[in-house]
Amino acid sequence: PTFEAMGLREELLRGIYDYGFEKPSAIQQRAVLPIIKGHDVIAQSQSGTGKTAVFSMGILQRLDTSSNDTQALVLSPTRELAEQTQKVILSLGDYMNVQCHACIGGKSIGEDIRRLDYGVQVVSGTPGRVFDMIRRRNLKTKSLKMLVIDEADEMLNKGFKEQIYDIYRYLPPTTQVVLISATLPQEVLDMTKKFMNEPIKVLV
Ligand code: AMP
Repeated sequence: PTFEAMGLREELLRGIYDYGFEKPSAIQQRAVLPIIKGHDVIAQSQSGTGKTAVFSMGILQRLDTSSNDTQALVLSPTRELAEQTQKVILSLGDYMNVQCHACIGGKSIGEDIRRLDYGVQVVSGTPGRVFDMIRRRNLKTKSLKMLVIDEADEMLNKGFKEQIYDIYRYLPPTTQVVLISATLPQEVLDMTKKFMNEPIKVLV
């Protein structure tokens, strides 16, 4: 199995190899293709499996780089994880001219507004600040094609359930949803039932 065989765009392959990846990890082998094809995907996997690159590659492969509209939104349980994800997307997308903004609590709202009003293709954030930006209409959801819910179980443990449901209400009904979780407790399964359409489940 190789990244080439996945049919990834040339500039994304360059970013992947530059980053130091040589071949896809187990979860990447199984989850990237369904995401690229547009399926909703539940990936049951932990940190350390290469899960961040799974959805980052999916986002980058599907991105329309000729548009500045916000096309993908990644939700994470902590600011650190949201920033780490932003870095991975920017690194893998190094040859793609992609903009990715970290929309997280504790940072300047003015900077969020400036970046979002200018237009940013990918937003990686925590639920509270992201919902705030959506409600203020600075984060525009009309062109969103993909929602990633990373570490869904952690997110619910941290009490973000209402905010995630609030955010979901603003998304176009056709938005592709990718959910990553180490465990699948009932609350996470409820979310997959409500948000996802015939999801493909990958366990690594
Ligand atoms: P994650 O599961 O996203 O927290 O990633 C765990 C670690 O695996 C990170 O340091 C990644 O950079 C690394 N990683 C992810 N995919 C690959 C790959 N295909 N080859 C080598 N390292 C990888």
